[in-house]
Amino acid sequence: MRFYGRAYLAHDEDGRLKAHWVDTSDVLAMPYDIPVPGYRNDTVNTLRLWSARSSEEFDLSYFNDGDYERAVYNKVLTENISKVLYPNDNVSQGRELRLRQEYFFTAASIADIIRRFKAENNDFKKLPDKAAIQLNDTHPAIAIAELMRILIDEEGIDWDTAWRITENTFAYTNHTIMPEALEAWGVGLFENLLPRHLQIIYEINLRFLKEASIKFPGDNERLRRMSIIEEGDPKRIRMGHLAVIGSHSVNGVSELHSELLKTQLFRDFYELWPDKFNNKTNGITQRRWLKKSNPRLSDLITEAIGDKWVTDLYELKKLLPFKDDERFREKWQDVKSKNKIDLASYINKNTGIVVDPSSLFDVQVKRMHEYKRQLLFSFYILAQYLKLKADPKADAFSRTFILSGKAAPSYAMAKLIIKFINSIAEIVNKDKDISDRLKVVFLENYCVSLAEKIFPAAELSEQISTAGTEASGTGCMKFMVNGALTIGTHDGANLEIAREAGHDNIFLFGLKAGQIFELRSRGYNPQSFIDKSAALKEIFHLIQSNFLSPVEFGLFDPIVRSLLDHDYFFVLADFEGYCRTQEAVSAAYRDRDGWVRRSITNVAKSGKFSSDRTIEEYARSIWDVPCHK
Ligand SMILES: *Cc1c(COP(=O)(O)O)cnc(C)c1O
Repeated sequence: MRFYGRAYLAHDEDGRLKAHWVDTSDVLAMPYDIPVPGYRNDTVNTLRLWSARSSEEFDLSYFNDGDYERAVYNKVLTENISKVLYPNDNVSQGRELRLRQEYFFTAASIADIIRRFKAENNDFKKLPDKAAIQLNDTHPAIAIAELMRILIDEEGIDWDTAWRITENTFAYTNHTIMPEALEAWGVGLFENLLPRHLQIIYEINLRFLKEASIKFPGDNERLRRMSIIEEGDPKRIRMGHLAVIGSHSVNGVSELHSELLKTQLFRDFYELWPDKFNNKTNGITQRRWLKKSNPRLSDLITEAIGDKWVTDLYELKKLLPFKDDERFREKWQDVKSKNKIDLASYINKNTGIVVDPSSLFDVQVKRMHEYKRQLLFSFYILAQYLKLKADPKADAFSRTFILSGKAAPSYAMAKLIIKFINSIAEIVNKDKDISDRLKVVFLENYCVSLAEKIFPAAELSEQISTAGTEASGTGCMKFMVNGALTIGTHDGANLEIAREAGHDNIFLFGLKAGQIFELRSRGYNPQSFIDKSAALKEIFHLIQSNFLSPVEFGLFDPIVRSLLDHDYFFVLADFEGYCRTQEAVSAAYRDRDGWVRRSITNVAKSGKFSSDRTIEEYARSIWDVPCHK
């Protein structure tokens, strides 16, 4: 893979203008193949990953002079490219190493695709019939310029033909509409690292703007909005626009998200190319998230309806009549109880906290992010704590609040929220006044292995992001197939879960995406919501009196300030509605039989959320791959 250097155009012997990219620093890409076995289908696919290797072991001249560190300096720098995956989530940092990484992985895979294609074909026009490249977010979007570079500079194909091939090969999946997550590279940084790709992107943009100006004559404001180049200082390259322009398909990952792509983020592009836009609702694999991670429930389901659900999740609908079978409901509840005992013992071993396995397991596990509103959940926990403290007989049963999730290393607010949750836990778990009725648990190191222990034991799934911010969410689906009921906002896949399960079997609350956009543009005053809520007043007083930070006064001031100053994610606006809906959850849980019926119904109607369904939709409608079924 080549980096840096200079790009220029020069006439070759036949007088044709040819691009040259010279004086580059080169890095070797070493493939590592990971086998991906299918489930009893006699197929093993290969996932090819890449490791960066220096093209020279070390600089002998430095070595001979005794400067051993300098001798390996370039090797270390080079190999850093594939050392760590950036741990950010839904935010773009714009660092050069990240762009180097994105280009490295992308260019290696494109080179591999081209190598394989050329081994069996000689007409590049057939590339889209033989290969489909699905851009998983904009991180590999540079692939569009890379394929154009190879087709034009290395294979000698004319621009228009190369562009048709490229467009028909690429498809793009968007994963977020949040502005802080949209990748945009400074032109200077980009030109230094990938000078030839910048020329190609400028040419793509020029031709695109020509096409768009025919459709929207004189609408210069719109053309400015649609340009790949964002004007400003510095000018930046909008990778999302490159991805949309260079792909024949653009999809979101839930129905709501795909609508928001058409009406908000990519509205201008939708008006230009309505047929490019489509939806592919995310899914999860039942082989991992039910069969492997919840063997007790899997066995009970298979005992009732056979095991076809393992490869066809819609089979679960056969469970529906069993909700009226008392014996089955007992067994269902017994499975959940045993799974809760297992998780309780994991919690005790890892945190020392003793939780009551007969309490309601109320769970929010996901990356830490303000938009996911772990703060809203925390505020509800505090409200419950204050209520019980004032009236120890207030609630008829107890709850265990379980949270887990990682924060990106430089996301200070997310880390402070983790500290906030742990501070609440420390106080609530020890307070004798509430006599163990509430427990708060924060589990470290949220990862797939830990997730597999949590979902089988969960009863209530917290999906409470600000409407319009969670593109899909997949955690919600893992909860659903494990028999948890959802409390959630009108966001992401929650709406589709509600449609599948029926509105009686989910607890929805809060402002809708349209209301959020309206409130944001009209001007939102968080203080007005505190003025209207006794619970919020009390919670703010508690935090500001340092009740949660007795040895570190002011520790949680940034949380208070952020909520009072702007509350970008409408925690305060949704708080009262959320608490009311939690009351409805409590009432529903008191009726244990009704709760189990709802749990069975949720699982029975979770068929849509298999990734098998998702992949099949990609295969049929984007990749044009025939499916056997
Ligand atoms: C499923 C999963 C996620 C995604 O969860 P959301 O609730 O959709 O944000 C994140 N991390 C791990 C470890 C998961 O298993």
